[in-house]
Amino acid sequence: MEMAPIDGHLDWMGGALRPDLVFESGQGCWLTDTHGNRYLDFVGGWAVTGLGHCPSEVANALAKQASTLIHCSPGFWNVPATKLARKLKEITGMDRVFLGCTGAEANECAIKLARRFGAKMRGGAYTILTTHEGFHGRTLATMAATGKPAWRDIFGPDLTGFVHLPHGDLEAFEAAVGAHTCAILLEPIQGEAGIRPASLEFLQGLRTLCDRHGILLILDEVQTGIGRTGTWTRAQALGVRPDILTLGKGLGAGYPISACLCREEWNLFEPGDQGGTFTYPPLGSAVALAVLEAMEKLSLLEQVLRSEAQLRQILHSLEARYSLRDVRGAGLLLAFDLPHPDAGELVRIARENGLLLNAPRPSTIRLMPALNIDEKAIEEFATRLETSLRHLSHQGT
Ligand code: PLP
Repeated sequence: MEMAPIDGHLDWMGGALRPDLVFESGQGCWLTDTHGNRYLDFVGGWAVTGLGHCPSEVANALAKQASTLIHCSPGFWNVPATKLARKLKEITGMDRVFLGCTGAEANECAIKLARRFGAKMRGGAYTILTTHEGFHGRTLATMAATGKPAWRDIFGPDLTGFVHLPHGDLEAFEAAVGAHTCAILLEPIQGEAGIRPASLEFLQGLRTLCDRHGILLILDEVQTGIGRTGTWTRAQALGVRPDILTLGKGLGAGYPISACLCREEWNLFEPGDQGGTFTYPPLGSAVALAVLEAMEKLSLLEQVLRSEAQLRQILHSLEARYSLRDVRGAGLLLAFDLPHPDAGELVRIARENGLLLNAPRPSTIRLMPALNIDEKAIEEFATRLETSLRHLSHQGT
């Protein structure tokens, strides 16, 4: 099915290893390449396109805002960004909002705020405890927070001030907190690590630990937030309130916008401490508002939970036949393991069967379709996945 891509695709710099196909259009859960081949999309733009491809809500909001106000500098208030800040407060229960464009930018804001807190209120403490195999972005500070050893060799030296500890090991966190610590930063479900949920006990334990020592709990919900896991934030499902929360990906459903939110008492930036030319963007804010309103109107959080149940049933029905293991995750951020490290090969075979999958780890398949995917598309997924698994198992024999 794959064919030679169009001229010019080799002009890009860096990024992911890409298969030889070029996408031209998308509608709902389907993407179409330059040769007219259609693919059922279970990658969802890396957990971004919550309303599917080219949703009318986003297209309309973009068109309307583009003819009203595209940009006016973050040195002035603008209407969509103020409305979005209010809406984000309402759905997250947080108090103050910074708006940027990418998840990494939101996390940079969180890291700066934690250091500002350390400088102002904790005697200059600046160390942030974070997790092995977490992922927080690709800027220098967020790469240091991520702590992937391979990056140290090619981009080093790391920004200092991050200590990495085993995800889920509360005792290790308890032992590591000291006078130099200002915050703990983690994902409530590690996404790039292959969907590794933090247990309720672990997250509640971290909350208690932070309260006991007077340090901040930062939850990176760039991947898990905005309904992806069936509630506005994963923290809400677990009943744990962070001090700082970051959101991105699904917020603009494909248009770049992100947010860093904090509780009122940690609103410590002085004018000029935090900003950027494209912060508080009118266009992105109008889109994000339209996304959140559409999600409410469509009762998407409930739909996500129904779709999760349907998907889990499908995966469980395939489990024994194809030796699938450890179906896990929440909402429409699910994963399972294959018996062998050939997830990359399954992704390739599935693509030939018109199904886009993602393999964050050699044995792991991650599913992150549109939040508004319907039953029929999920049934189609079941058929294409089973065909692909059969093909893979025949290869092995
Ligand atoms: N944080 C988490 C949990 C993520 O999954 C990602 C991206 O995958 C990021 C931060 C970085 O977001 P962005 O790629 O928009 O900078």
